[in-house]
Amino acid sequence: MNVSKLLNRTIVCKCGKEHSSKVEHVVIEEKAIKHVPELMNAYGYKKAFIICDVNTWEAAAKEVEETIKAAGLGAVPCVLESKELVPDEYAVGYLLMNFDPSCDVVIGVGTGVLNDTSKYFSYQLKMEYFIVATAPSMDGFASTGAALISSNLKTTYNAHVPKAIIGPVEILAESPMDMISAGLADIMGKYTCLIDWNMARIVNGEYYCEWLEQLVRSSIKKVMDNAPLVKDRDHTAIANIMEALVVTGIAMEYAGNSRPASGAEHHLSHYWEMQFLFEGRKAVLHGTKVGIGTIAITYAYNKLKDMDIDFAAAKANVANYDFDAWSAYMKETYGVSADSVIKLEKKVQKNGAEGRLRRINAVEANWAEIKALIANLIPTVAQMEETLGSLGGAIRPSHVDIPREMFYNSVCVAKEVRDRYTILQLLWDMGLEKEFAEELSNYMYA
Ligand SMILES: [Zn+2]
Ligand SMILES: [Zn+2]
Repeated sequence: MNVSKLLNRTIVCKCGKEHSSKVEHVVIEEKAIKHVPELMNAYGYKKAFIICDVNTWEAAAKEVEETIKAAGLGAVPCVLESKELVPDEYAVGYLLMNFDPSCDVVIGVGTGVLNDTSKYFSYQLKMEYFIVATAPSMDGFASTGAALISSNLKTTYNAHVPKAIIGPVEILAESPMDMISAGLADIMGKYTCLIDWNMARIVNGEYYCEWLEQLVRSSIKKVMDNAPLVKDRDHTAIANIMEALVVTGIAMEYAGNSRPASGAEHHLSHYWEMQFLFEGRKAVLHGTKVGIGTIAITYAYNKLKDMDIDFAAAKANVANYDFDAWSAYMKETYGVSADSVIKLEKKVQKNGAEGRLRRINAVEANWAEIKALIANLIPTVAQMEETLGSLGGAIRPSHVDIPREMFYNSVCVAKEVRDRYTILQLLWDMGLEKEFAEELSNYMYA
């Protein structure tokens, strides 16, 4: 599949939606930076404001500036002077104070943090932006949200997608191996999130698109087929990861939500990220956390598919739910974010008796189908661990210093970060979350 086939068109789909993306160009190839001037010319841009940090300046932004100037166009680089850039008020303010208003397009050079910062900055200035990716580390290249940190809280701000995504393969292939393995891990997370999406379809009648699921699955397959070559920095294997990261971003835009790319494994990752922020600890790469979350959720799905659930006991247990006790537990496990979690619950009532009973009944009525679906789609834990482990990637919470108690709590409460049905909500509905949290902790911390 060629990503370009997904762009600049509207796909009238059997799911009832018309899928389209506002991303107009995706160039993932060797020496892709040479296309930057022609992309600027295609839109009539004369001068680019180049956003980078000290690392990506060396890796690519210098070349972007030279290439643009050699083509007779203008370029103003703005180098954020930090080795460990944080996407916060300081970064955005720094860009604003150094902005040259004669520029007519923003070009972000980097990945995660620089992509979020450039995306948000250009959106606020009502300018378009291109992203030149320097590492295939996360799937936010084609997504509209910008994850920033404001007052020490991570918030996803509404923003826009880049007009062009440029992936110079020779630069991506030389990026740090922990970033490449984080990107691979983010792709592997699609195995579990796609099962969550199917469960939401079966249990909640949620919007679902089979074509999109297959689109994401075919990208994962391409990545996994070549995964053994990633450790040698094989260019095709690296280009496949980059392409899959872009395709899943486009799939989110197509779906109108993040179902094709994010499920319970991401909720675990978000929970750990919040805890790290409160504790003032250095952030761990998104994909690295998602990889550990994916191993945990893969374990949970493999256990669930072989279980017999006592549905009568689950239904009887619904009456025992106590909102005040639940709120106290949220305060204990969410700290300063407890208020937003409690506010969300008051609004959507995902734990209320009515919805919970309905879901238990739906799972019971479809239990054979759900088990078959999981058995058909879930890889083994060993497959996940071997693939990530071969790159030296983290496969245990302790590898990124997540303590056992934080991990245990996350299995029980990470579902509260969003109103979204996943295996974690299913376990809670059935009263099984503590049993799973205990067994998963024993496995992960053995
Ligand atoms: Zn569709
Ligand atoms: Zn992700």
